[in-house]
Formats: sequence, structure tokens, C-alpha cells
Amino acid sequence: MLQLFEWLGSPPSLNDQEDELKCNIAGGFSTKSCYNWLIDQQQQQQPLIPPPPPYLCIWVKFVPPKNQTFMWLAAQNAIPTTDNLVRRGVPIQNMMCSLCNSQAETVNHLLLHCSYTHKIWNYFIGGYNVRWANGGSLEAQLQAWKFRRGRNRGRKIWPLLIFAIIRSIWEERNRRVMANKSPRSEGVIINEIKKLIFHWGKAEKWFWG
Ligand SMILES: [Zn+2]
Repeated sequence: MLQLFEWLGSPPSLNDQEDELKCNIAGGFSTKSCYNWLIDQQQQQQPLIPPPPPYLCIWVKFVPPKNQTFMWLAAQNAIPTTDNLVRRGVPIQNMMCSLCNSQAETVNHLLLHCSYTHKIWNYFIGGYNVRWANGGSLEAQLQAWKFRRGRNRGRKIWPLLIFAIIRSIWEERNRRVMANKSPRSEGVIINEIKKLIFHWGKAEKWFWG
């Protein structure tokens, strides 16, 4: 620590001036100007920030903010899955996925590729009668999900579906890992997902009947 302080040296003096944010855009600093500057940097192939998750698929009407935030974190691999906890130094003995118990738990395995999870995706996507292969990552899945499928009510449900699936799988995982509860079958989770979608969409006229 002492070596570090020695290396850093004395802090520069502030000359009794007040701190301020300066920006060469007319009107001074604003979040918008900063965001536009970052986007410009990216377009000029100078990646200063990692590409953001596809926001348009995340900030979806009817989905509660808590679930939107969870999706935003999950798409950036920032939720407390076993592999992420181990990376942060949490001592965990069993690294296996609690849903299938045959592979290590990662965000993409748990939410997309696990054999248990796969049956749930297949059930709902099968209902849309479309050819579909789950994306390699949750972010890729979100990117592909922005093109709506189905007709009429099914088309309106499509954007909500991904949130309901992800949330229900995460809840089942937490029930098993945190609360030590007995596993529920895929069929029970499918019903939970249907209930969630009904709950989120029921205020809308298109959902009546
Ligand atoms: Zn699994």
C-alpha cells in the first residue's frame, strides 16, 4: 500500500477552484451529450464501452421494471449465477446447474441451453409454429426476439414472453438453491409463465376474453 501511495505521488492541487464538468458541446455537459459522444466513438470504431444489450427489447411496455432490470443485468452476465459468484470469490462447493445437475451453471446455460429450460422454450416457441434456434447467448436471444412472431394476440404476447420465461426459470433456480425446495416439473413452470403473462397483460383490451 505504501509503495502504491509513493508511486501515485501527491494529488494535484485544486487551486481553490470549484470542481466542474466541462464539455466542448454548446450548452455544457448533459447525459444526452455524453451518450451521443460515446455512440460517436463507437461508430468511429474506437470501442470505449462494450456494446450495450439491445435496449429496445428490454424496455418493453407492460413488463414490470424489476423484470426489465433483471433482464438488463442478465444480458450483461451480471446476475449471481454460480460461475459469477465464484469469480467474485464466493466459496461454492457445487458448481452444477440446479435444474439439470449435469453441467456447470452459467447465465447462458441456465436460461437458454439447460435441458430443463429447453423444454420450456420449446413449448412456447412451438405454439408459434416458427423455426427457431435459441441464440448462443441471452443477448443474441434478445436481438433475435425483437422481430415479433405470430398474429393478433400472439403477436402482442411475444415481447412479454421472453421476460416471463426468464423470470420463472430464475425463480425456480432460486427456490432450489436458496430455499432448498423440491424441484417443480417443466409443466408447472409453463403454467407459472402463462399466469405471469396474463397478470401483466390483463389491463389491456386486447387481452380481454
Ligand atoms: Zn442445467
